[in-house]
Amino acid sequence: MMQQKKQLIVIGAGAAGFFCAINAARLHPSLQVIILEKSSKVLSKVKVSGGGRCNVTHACFEIDELSKRYPRGEHFVRKAFHQFFTTDTIQWFQERGVQLKAEADGRMFPVTNSSQTIIDCLLKEVNRYGVGILMNRDVQQLKLEAGKWQVKISNHEIMEADFVCVASGGFPKLQQFDWLKETNHSIVPPVPSLFTFNIPHHPITKLMGVVVPEATIKIQASKLKNTGPLLITHWGMSGPCVLKLSAWGARELQEKNYDFSIVVNWLKDAKEQELKDKLQAIRNSNGSQKISNHNLFQLPGRLWQFLLEEAGFKDEWRWADLPSKEQNKLIQLLCNHPFQVKGKTTFKEEFVTAGGIHLKQVDPNTMQSKLQPHLFFAGEILDVDGITGGFNFQHAWTSGFIAAKAIASMA
Ligand SMILES: Cc1cc2nc3c(=O)[nH]c(=O)nc-3n(C[C@H](O)[C@H](O)[C@H](O)COP(=O)(O)OP(=O)(O)OC[C@H]3O[C@@H](n4cnc5c(N)ncnc54)[C@H](O)[C@@H]3O)c2cc1C
Repeated sequence: MMQQKKQLIVIGAGAAGFFCAINAARLHPSLQVIILEKSSKVLSKVKVSGGGRCNVTHACFEIDELSKRYPRGEHFVRKAFHQFFTTDTIQWFQERGVQLKAEADGRMFPVTNSSQTIIDCLLKEVNRYGVGILMNRDVQQLKLEAGKWQVKISNHEIMEADFVCVASGGFPKLQQFDWLKETNHSIVPPVPSLFTFNIPHHPITKLMGVVVPEATIKIQASKLKNTGPLLITHWGMSGPCVLKLSAWGARELQEKNYDFSIVVNWLKDAKEQELKDKLQAIRNSNGSQKISNHNLFQLPGRLWQFLLEEAGFKDEWRWADLPSKEQNKLIQLLCNHPFQVKGKTTFKEEFVTAGGIHLKQVDPNTMQSKLQPHLFFAGEILDVDGITGGFNFQHAWTSGFIAAKAIASMA
């Protein structure tokens, strides 16, 4: 008698869903694998990711180091990375003809600089292993009946599966997780991560486009602080320094309703006394030199001029003329420049939702639910998110692969 093929249904045609489906079909050729996607597009985030270049992973080859880049889920990913790490991602794509390259800041992209290369590779693998993709299938309910998963779709169709992997990405609102209710999983309420700061009506925005390679931002009345490249925009501040702060502070900043005070140290970690000594030395040695011509700290020229104006410096002043009131004001602006943030702006190149399926209810060694048999989770649906730089896709590949391996060994 012919044995019926076991069936895996993967919910969501994103990075995690594709990776789970392809690897499960590859590792267990007699498993029937189907991806259900609610929209009419596959891999739509991969397409637009990294400004159309797809920042696939990060050139970090230490598990402990990489795990620290996840504001939520550090311990969970640390365990998972032992099974599928950045080196495995690089090799997986390389074996399928996709070379990745690392940029100076560690971000890794396909050498073609096009996300389409990743999409083409994944589509080719789906075809190679006979994975079925059904579009416009919005899954509305999951129910276990007599040892089989009943997957209810919006058109009232019900599909049956031995294994289900939920790879439906993050949802911005708590109610959007309702379709998973029957699985009894707890949901950590979602909040946005990776956003930029709005500083409305502040004259600093006139300096849009200026980049300070190493500035420090400290959020007042909080422990949040970060150093890195800071970009001034026409609405406020962006750049890795801000984006990483937004990730670490995703929940805290939402509680503050995105209304909070920051201080910027334009000189990384310079202290007031240190600057006082430096200015004193300059007054002694270069007293006759015009201050505005002497960009003492090699800051971007427009920023230096702006800080002098804000501190009340007169254009014709020489170092020897500098009154102590204006000198103190400049020192304060250089290392403790206050701003009021009011609101956030979505970062177009990469954004994610923090929150999702509670990690205590999922086994990081298999991605299987601890509450329900044969139910798996992968990708952003889990309460895992990384800072900007390829960490979110790495988590999608890792969790998708681990779920696939576990399903293949159980099938
Ligand atoms: C603009 C942008 C750029 C980004 N750039 C990068 C980057 O360069 N590097 C990086 O590491 N990260 C990046 N990210 C984050 C990264 O894209 C996500 O973390 C990653 O795509 C998550 O993959 P996923 O498969 O879990 O979810 P998704 O990619 O969100 O895929 C989930 C899929 O499930 C479908 N779905 C949802 N609910 C259902 C349902 N009920 N039934 C059926 N289907 C359903 C959705 O339509 C979707 O197609 C970016 C994000 C954005 C928004």
